[in-house]
Amino acid sequence: MVRKMIEDTLKNKTDLIASLKASNAKLKTEIQERKRAEKALQELVKTYQETSLKLRTLINAMPDIVCFKDGTGKWLEANKSMLELFDIEKVDYHGKSDAELGEISKFYQEALLNCQHSDQEAWNKRILSRSEEVIQKKDGSVKIYDVIKVPLFYEDGKRNGIVVLGRDITEQKQTEKAMTRLASIVESSNDAIIGNTLAGIIYSWNSGAEEIYGYSIYEVKGRSISMLAVPERPNEIPQILANITAGIGIDNYETVHLRKDGKHIDVALTISPIKDTQDNVIGVSTIARDISDRKQVERSLEQLRHQHQLILESAGEGICVIDIFSKISFVNPAAAKMTGYAIKELVNNDWNFIMYGGETNRNTDRISTEKNSQACPVRTTLEKGIVCQVTDEFFGRRDGSFFPVEYVSTPILEQGKITGAVVTFKDITDRLAVEQMKDEFISVVSHELRTPLASIHGALGLLKSGLLNQAPERGRRMLDIAVANTDRLVRLVNDILDLERLHSNQVTMVKQTCNVSELMMQAASEMQPIAEKTGVNLSVTPIDTKLWGCADRLIQTLTNLLSNAIKYSSTGKTVWLTASKQRISQNQVDNSHNLTSGVPGDIAVAPACRINSSYQVLIMVKDQGRGIPADKIESIFGRFQQVDASDSRQKGGTGLGLAICRSIVQQHEGQIWAESTLGKGSTFFVTLPIFD
Ligand code: ADP
Repeated sequence: MVRKMIEDTLKNKTDLIASLKASNAKLKTEIQERKRAEKALQELVKTYQETSLKLRTLINAMPDIVCFKDGTGKWLEANKSMLELFDIEKVDYHGKSDAELGEISKFYQEALLNCQHSDQEAWNKRILSRSEEVIQKKDGSVKIYDVIKVPLFYEDGKRNGIVVLGRDITEQKQTEKAMTRLASIVESSNDAIIGNTLAGIIYSWNSGAEEIYGYSIYEVKGRSISMLAVPERPNEIPQILANITAGIGIDNYETVHLRKDGKHIDVALTISPIKDTQDNVIGVSTIARDISDRKQVERSLEQLRHQHQLILESAGEGICVIDIFSKISFVNPAAAKMTGYAIKELVNNDWNFIMYGGETNRNTDRISTEKNSQACPVRTTLEKGIVCQVTDEFFGRRDGSFFPVEYVSTPILEQGKITGAVVTFKDITDRLAVEQMKDEFISVVSHELRTPLASIHGALGLLKSGLLNQAPERGRRMLDIAVANTDRLVRLVNDILDLERLHSNQVTMVKQTCNVSELMMQAASEMQPIAEKTGVNLSVTPIDTKLWGCADRLIQTLTNLLSNAIKYSSTGKTVWLTASKQRISQNQVDNSHNLTSGVPGDIAVAPACRINSSYQVLIMVKDQGRGIPADKIESIFGRFQQVDASDSRQKGGTGLGLAICRSIVQQHEGQIWAESTLGKGSTFFVTLPIFD
């Protein structure tokens, strides 16, 4: 029993030990599992903490604003950007509402309340909402945020929280604004602003371009910019595009473009490459300014300048422009020609070169006199702005000689200030010669008039005195002298008046078609009585041809020649009046344009006879008289020119007949000359243009 008891007790103990062992093993396992679970939990917490830290770091590093709020609008988490925005970095914001934070950060109170208000709207809408929030910063700047609000709800529909995300789009907005402004500038520009690819394909075209070229954007988009080139410049645009590709821009390049209506327009181009952020050329910007008006003005100005140039260059008067220091800044060709200098020798040189005959030839006496007395009119113009006119000056030539001039110096005034002078001068050598000739003529005329007057006066004086009352024969002779001199006086006065009228074109020549034959016959018949009286034969061989002229004046010419021929022939001799038709060589016709002198062989052609200018009539008056010395053969055509001083007395001539003849013939575009052999006779030739 005891043994049984012992055995039972032992068994119980063994069972207990076994059960204790089992419990112990289980406990161990449980402890191990718990430890593992704890470790796992610890790792999870660690991982969570790490992730959370990373997330927070990440969120804080974000430039965007981030904020989590609970279902009542209280702040749970916010990133650095959000806190900075509202200036609450140092505030413990957790669990505080926007309104409460607004109380703390007063400056941003309104912005925070607005935020709270828009949270409510997001919750009410129950969906993601997006809006632009404008926040005024303390430094005066304005920030614009693109804000997204995501309301969160529990399953039962109650508010869980709200996520607020915002991106600063201030710069983007400013860029957009700038772009809009730029676009409106481009659009409102009067210049054509064209965007095209490097291949020249147009992709943008503003209203200025529409205005200038006449195409709308729809007509040009996708087409090549070469459509604007004029056919005469086919390589221009490809060349420009090549330059742009090489990075070479073009500034204010003036060219001609083609409008839609086919008209050419003057444009100034500024072409620049369009580059991407990596500085690669990706396109071309072409700005074209319509410069047609300016070009037109330039062309007009150029035309005007050219015209002025032509006027100055073709002016017969010398024109010099001098500056305030008497330096020549301009001379026209006439001035250079008159002074014998080349234009470039005068320009930039002193006015004294002309005024006083240049450095080497300067007339020092005159300079010092004029300078001392301040008498130089050009200086007076430069100093006092007075227009000076001088009629009796001498200017110097390059060769040291001087020539007579009359000149006017006019001040050049710019805004009331004298900046120089224009000196316009004329070489008056010819005029002085004419004046001298006139003086001489008057003295000759007065002498010629006085001689017969003195004779008349003497004869009449003798008769009046009664001294010849007893000598009637001498008295009659005195009367004859008086009558002869009166006739001579009348002839003289008539011839002088005739010549003067012819020279001053006061005589109206009634020109008409005349038959040369009739002219010759008429002249011969008028002279026949005189010829008969002196016993000279008059032989006439008329020619039947027509010319355009004044019959009376041509007959006057022929009668004068016949009268001379008869006058200087002795009795029994013959005077021939003949004529022949001649063909004018082309050479003669060409030369005739330059001729005025009446030199034998030179042929002039009358404008009225241009019906057929290749023929002329040659009329000859030939005598067998005393002849004319060779040295007088030309001078006898001058006024009061006679071979012998006794001719006027003996032959009753005035010495004006041939001068009158030459004047008449020249006014018929003809020539007159004489040939003679002393002692054998003379022939006077007259050529006149005829019809055929
Ligand atoms: P005048 O009235 O003196 O004849 P002209 O002008 O007709 O004037 O002639 C000028 C001069 O030419 C004459 O005075 C004369 O000396 C000379 N003369 C003109 N014709 C002849 C001639 N046929 N033979 C010689 N001498 C002539």
